[in-house]
Amino acid sequence: MKPILPGSVIGVLGSGQLGRMFAISARRMGYRVHTYSPDRDTPTGQVADVEIDAAYEDLDAVRKFAQGVDVITFEFENVPAATAAEAERHAPVRPGGTVLHTTQHRLREKTYLSQHGFPVTPFRAIQRPSDLRLAMPELGPSILKTAGFGYDGKGQYRVKNLEEAEAAWRAMNHQEAVLEQLVDFEAELSVVGVRGTGGVCEFYPPSLNHHVNGILDVSLSPGPFPDYIKNEVLDITRGLLESLDVTGVLCVEFFLTRGGKVLVNELAPRPHNSGHLTIDACITSQFEQQLRAVCGLPAGCPAMLAPAAMANLLGDVWSNSEPDWSFALEVPEVKLHLYGKMDARPGRKMGHLTATGATATQAEQIARAARARLTAQSANSTR
Ligand code: AMP
Repeated sequence: MKPILPGSVIGVLGSGQLGRMFAISARRMGYRVHTYSPDRDTPTGQVADVEIDAAYEDLDAVRKFAQGVDVITFEFENVPAATAAEAERHAPVRPGGTVLHTTQHRLREKTYLSQHGFPVTPFRAIQRPSDLRLAMPELGPSILKTAGFGYDGKGQYRVKNLEEAEAAWRAMNHQEAVLEQLVDFEAELSVVGVRGTGGVCEFYPPSLNHHVNGILDVSLSPGPFPDYIKNEVLDITRGLLESLDVTGVLCVEFFLTRGGKVLVNELAPRPHNSGHLTIDACITSQFEQQLRAVCGLPAGCPAMLAPAAMANLLGDVWSNSEPDWSFALEVPEVKLHLYGKMDARPGRKMGHLTATGATATQAEQIARAARARLTAQSANSTR
């Protein structure tokens, strides 16, 4: 395949913060970026050359968008299949529609993982009431998750017994769901990998991830894992990049159980929140890797320049007013990333801080302390 060189136009389906950081990388290398989503003045649109505001279901608009770009990628996996298929008629879409199809539906994703021999949390498909009655005694305390369109812990209910499971399923309007055994994990970790058009793969070190209320809160890298765990999660990530035939970035999220077993929790066929620290801490960021892969260019060196940690800034940090960012920037190792979102709702990802340090643990302390100063300052200030 002929590489798509700087000066070409990259189309991005979706317009959130992942598209924004991707577009910044692409523009730095001299590419033009067009973004497509049903919104205006979006995080991606603010830094793209062209922002198209149309429904994903508007296939005429999708066709025009695709005809105006050299290659298309997406920044979130819930783009409807018909949209990706229409786009693919006019420009290459990377990664291809199969990865999208598998990963945008929890049940398909988990079925794929277990059928292809990847270690996965025990789960059952829930399509009718008898499924719950059979599955609950087998799995015990579990999490009921919607099969489609879930992210950041949304559409999830922890259930201890059949009564709770039935109530949770009612609350989901009896949509198709996955019942997943509750894992007693020691840690959550993730690996971001990239695979180029020629099949060459590169990986970042596994990061240790802390979640709060089902949302990623802090990631640090390299995570403090023994070599056998590192090797296992890197091997699984390579196996998935190959078996799903990914061209682009794939993030694999894992649980490490108290028994020392690794289980795949979730896949994201794109740059991931736990890889944001690669912007400030690695020779090549995950966004540049995505760009290089979808353009058919060789992957960059993923090596870390320093251990690092990332702390998310959710809308909650805006408790009274826009925080005074100088409180975070007084710490010279801290980098501020804001996504250009106007409405700071609780739980909404508004930005993040990255800190580097002598060790990942020290970087974590710096990032957390900087965020705590911001939160305290915002809470103490009056509008
Ligand atoms: P998910 O959106 O499925 O990645 O879930 C969000 C978060 O909820 C995960 O990162 C975990 O912290 C927690 N979680 C999800 N599934 C399980 C599970 N089966 N057992 C324990 N915790 C879970």
